[in-house]
Order: sequence, then C-alpha cells, then structure tokens
Amino acid sequence: MSHDASVELQILATIDKWVEQELRPIAREFDQADEYPVDLVEQMKELGLFGATISEEYGGLGLSASTYARIVSRICEVWMAPSGIFNSHLIMANCVERAGTQAQKEHFLPKFATGELRGGIGLTEPDAGSDLQGIRLVAKKDGDHYILNGTKTWISNGIKGNCLAVLTKTDPSASPPHRGMSLFICEKGEGFSVGKKLKKLGYRSIDSAELIFEDFRVSADNLVGGEEGRGFQQVAGGLELGRINIAARGAGMAKGATNMALHYAMDRKTFGKAIAEHQAVQLKLAEMSTRAAAAELLVHQAADKFDRHERCDLEAGQAKFFASEAAVQNSLDAMRVFGGYSYSPEYEIERFYRDAPLLCIGEGTNEIQRMIIAKQMVARAS
Ligand SMILES: Cc1cc2nc3c(=O)[nH]c(=O)nc-3n(C[C@H](O)[C@H](O)[C@H](O)COP(=O)(O)OP(=O)(O)OC[C@H]3O[C@@H](n4cnc5c(N)ncnc54)[C@H](O)[C@@H]3O)c2cc1C
Repeated sequence: MSHDASVELQILATIDKWVEQELRPIAREFDQADEYPVDLVEQMKELGLFGATISEEYGGLGLSASTYARIVSRICEVWMAPSGIFNSHLIMANCVERAGTQAQKEHFLPKFATGELRGGIGLTEPDAGSDLQGIRLVAKKDGDHYILNGTKTWISNGIKGNCLAVLTKTDPSASPPHRGMSLFICEKGEGFSVGKKLKKLGYRSIDSAELIFEDFRVSADNLVGGEEGRGFQQVAGGLELGRINIAARGAGMAKGATNMALHYAMDRKTFGKAIAEHQAVQLKLAEMSTRAAAAELLVHQAADKFDRHERCDLEAGQAKFFASEAAVQNSLDAMRVFGGYSYSPEYEIERFYRDAPLLCIGEGTNEIQRMIIAKQMVARAS
C-alpha cells in the first residue's frame, strides 16, 4: 500500500470514529432545536478539518480531492449540516491558495487551517444568485482601502464565522460585467454586520445569514490576487472543487438514506414477514442502493481527474447533478419504506428529506448544471 493510501485510510478511520461517537448521537436533537454544534466545531479544529485541502506548507492537511470527498460523504451519510461548517470555509481558502498573492497565502492560509479565521463565501445577493454578474455590492477605492456597501444573503457561516470571501463590483459599469468584479477577504469589523439569521426547511444547526455592508473599510491588501476585475474568474475557478464537495454530500446522503431504509425494512413486519421480503419494497431498496453506488462512482471519477490536474468541469457537473438528485430521490423513497413513521421526528429520515433538496440548489442549481454539462459536451466534441 502506498504511503498516501495508508494515510488516507488512517484519516478515514478517525473520521468514522468521530462521526459515530460525536455526530450521530446529537444529530436529531440539534437539528430539531436548530442549535449550533459548538463542541463539534472545536473537534473539527482538532481533526484539522478547517485545513483539510490547504497545503501542508501552510499548515493544512493537504488532502487530495478524493480523500476530502470521502470525508464529506461519511459525515453526510449521518448528518449533512456539520459538513457545511468547513466546506464553504475551504472554498474561501481554495480561492486564496489558487489566486491569492504570496503575502495573502502566508497571512491567511495558516489561520484558515487552524480555524482561527473561519467562514465561507459571500456571493449571493437578494437579487442575484445564478446570475452572479448581476450583483450590486460595490467596493469603492479610497486610498489604500476599499469601502464596501451592499447586502449578501443566504451566506453559510455568516453568523458564527469571522471572515468571508466577498464578491463585489469594483467597476459597476464594466462591460461585460465580470470585468468589474473583485473578491475581497473580509474579517468582521465596523460596518460589516449580520442582518438576520435565516429560517430554513432543513440544513438547520448551521447558520445561514443576511450580511450587511455599510461603509465597511477593507485594506487593499485583502483584494484577492492584488488586481481588480478578476473576482468572477477566481470564484468560478473554485467551482470544480465546490461541485465535487456537493456531489460528495449527495452520494453520502443517498447512501445514508438507503441504509436507514434497509434496516427499517428488515425490522418492520407486515402480513407475517419483514417488509424487506415484499417484492415492492425490494425493488425500491435495489434502486436506492444502485443510485447511491452510481453517485459515489461519479464523485470519484471527478475527484480523481481533479487530483490529476485535468480539466473536470464536465465530470464535476455530472457528479453534482446526479448525486444531488440521488440524495433527493433516495430520501423520498426511504420515506415510502418508513410508511407513517417517516413523518415522525422520532426517526431521522425526515431530516434527510428536508436537507437533500439544498444540494440541487447550491454551487449552481441543477438547471444551470445541465447547461454546463451540455456546453462542455459540445466543446469537447468540436
Ligand atoms: C441553505 C442555503 C445556503 C446557501 N449558502 C450560500 C453561501 O454560503 N454563499 C452564497 O454565496 N450563496 C449561498 N446560497 C445561495 C445559493 O447559492 C443560491 O440560492 C443559488 O445560487 C441560486 O440562486 P437564487 O436562489 O438566486 O435562484 P435564481 O438564480 O433566482 O434561480 C431561480 C430558478 O431559476 C433557474 N434559472 C436561473 N437562471 C436560469 C437559466 N439561465 N436557465 C435556466 N434556469 C435558470 C434556477 O435554476 C432556479 O430554478 C445558499 C442557499 C441556501 C438555500
């Protein structure tokens, strides 16, 4: 076994143990109370999860996308929300590591890796989600600072995080608009406040917030890459890893829902036998397990390509699209297997049913995803 493979196995074994000992026992209670899992965050710091994909030279674990995807899937097999605490944080870190200046990498990455600075990405605004070039948050140069004014919404880790990568317009009149877009690493301070915590169908326990910027001053040193007009590409460049991450969540959830349905079907008896022995239930279980396995394979096809530094937007898009839909379908199918008890918060399947649809929305909706896949198909065939 190679050194990398044995390190990966050790890390996954540690994650498995943590998931079973710390995450599974609290998932239902914390989700229902919409309570932030403070202790889990401290444990994540100790496990190094805030630096999972940050290079070792900057204090991270330097994990491959494949190992990272496995970690994300294992967590989401049990409870999706905790993965969001470090996933969008790592997208911010990835933007800095890929596109930041040397000084920015040296300043931010070690702090991101320990979780001393942690947060996520602020792209979406009340009037612009899929169409990011339509954002309105303006960053105006003022000496060696920029002054930010505008609002972001739906930002994960927006309340508990202390630092965010914020997409802005430094030139609102630029044509095409992306030429006037710039990304800033913003640590919270005067002028950067949380509007409100948003109530949600699912994905509870993790904070999603509206963020308000009112004459917020950020140093020009925090402009990612040190040059205006590159923010849109810097964000887009992180989407492959972001989509692999969402796909890994979907594959994990699809598997978790299948496992729950299987165990319930083996226990629950009707007409003198376990429902797992009724053919109609067997068909469902077989479809669910096949869907979950296919999702996992697509995730690893995309992650392997990413790790080989090959272009993988088509593969990451396919994995994201298929695995997120698999999570939704398997949650729904598992609800059928659970019958009336699927409606009870005593069982955990109702959480999967509420959590899974988010995966079809985040990191590019599945409508946008299919357009990306088709465009790549045409480009590769031309
Ligand atoms: C729980 C949660 C957490 C989130 N976390 C974050 C975060 O941390 N950071 C962040 O920046 N954002 C975050 N988001 C926002 C998320 O990324 C956006 O909701 C998403 O990008 C979609 O944007 P929208 O909601 O504005 O929908 P819209 O863009 O308004 O789309 C509405 C519908 O129209 C469809 N549509 C739009 N354009 C097209 C087109 N050209 N062709 C076909 N169909 C189209 C979409 O697919 C969708 O079905 C989060 C959202 C949620 C719900």
